[in-house]
Amino acid sequence: MTVAKDSSTDDIVHGNDLRGMDDFYVRTTEFLCPYLKCRIKATPCSYRSENVNQSYFKYTGEHKLGCGIHDAKNRNRNNANDEKTHNSPPAPFISILRLENDERIHREKKDNRTRKVNDEEDVVREHPVSSSSIKPIVDYYLSGVNNNEFLSIPPYEKRTYNETFQKLKYKPDVKYCKPAIYFGALQSNLTLDPNADEYEIVFLARKKGTKEAFRLKVDASSWNSSQKDVFVKEYEKQREKAERYRKSLFDKKTKSYKKANKFLTVFFFGFPDDKEPLLLHSNHFKLVYVSFIDDVKDTFNTSNEMSVISKTDLYELTANETNISEVEVNDVSYVDSDCLNSASFLPEPEPEPEPEPEPEPEPEPEPEPEPEPEPEPEPEPEHEAEEPKSRGGFLNGLKAIIEKFRR
Ligand SMILES: [Zn+2]
Repeated sequence: MTVAKDSSTDDIVHGNDLRGMDDFYVRTTEFLCPYLKCRIKATPCSYRSENVNQSYFKYTGEHKLGCGIHDAKNRNRNNANDEKTHNSPPAPFISILRLENDERIHREKKDNRTRKVNDEEDVVREHPVSSSSIKPIVDYYLSGVNNNEFLSIPPYEKRTYNETFQKLKYKPDVKYCKPAIYFGALQSNLTLDPNADEYEIVFLARKKGTKEAFRLKVDASSWNSSQKDVFVKEYEKQREKAERYRKSLFDKKTKSYKKANKFLTVFFFGFPDDKEPLLLHSNHFKLVYVSFIDDVKDTFNTSNEMSVISKTDLYELTANETNISEVEVNDVSYVDSDCLNSASFLPEPEPEPEPEPEPEPEPEPEPEPEPEPEPEPEPEPEHEAEEPKSRGGFLNGLKAIIEKFRR
């Protein structure tokens, strides 16, 4: 990743986003090192649509002392692929993701703005560091420098990076309920239709049992053709890298894939669907970031979740409660107390979800996953093993219930 500050908007711009910007705008705008003590010139490269390589910034001058590029803490970051060749400073901390993006409006505002360059801390407080693209924000998150920093995404609530970033993961009876920056690994063998008005992205994270996958629908109906072109080309570039890697993991001897530790990963600012719990939506090309990167560990963020109980579960609960209460009212003296233990009537609690296995590279174009039969509820072993006597009581209880229904 390479970054620079757009001096007309004060936005932090990710090098890969240059190609999505207007050529004239790029040529006439001054881009600088984002560190206030440095501010040396950044040159936009490879930003025209006919260029083959991804767009990026190149710094030819020496960064000044105090610029983050010299800090030891910024070394050894997992995503620092082309920083060295392009001499780019590390991902700066960004405090605002601006969802509306009108460069011209911000250009006009700039003239009335005074800047205080002396103390970086003060300036950051006065002029929050903003971006209209999630890329530099994702880079900062992945750098892991301090994810307890706050990120505002007006008009939504201000939250920490840790709470804003949500790795997609299936949990029974839980669904996502907030706009957030969701992310997850993808199958690298699925291409996008460049002319579509909606891109559907399928994640490796799946529901247990039915194997239904998380999906993202990107509404591209308002994008112009060059935005679509940029998005699809970028996706393809990362996808091809991921496919080459996946194929290299195939072991001819064992005819199986070795464990992957890099994945085609999509980050997006988006919303969960109202009805379908595994479906999410996004709509702006600056809010979707596809990258082939090291596996990103789950931070166990639960702030975007709410619990849900399916209708069938509710029905079963109600039905069982009715049985119990009738038995209690009419036959208490007759029924062995063991069978009044409501636990024996309630459906088995869901087994604790196992730690999710590392997503594996999918072998070949995937056949429709076969729905796995739901595991039979296990019989309760404790009753028999520990209290053999209660069996008679349980049968009597059952008899009592059957009797009741005969009447
Ligand atoms: Zn610098």
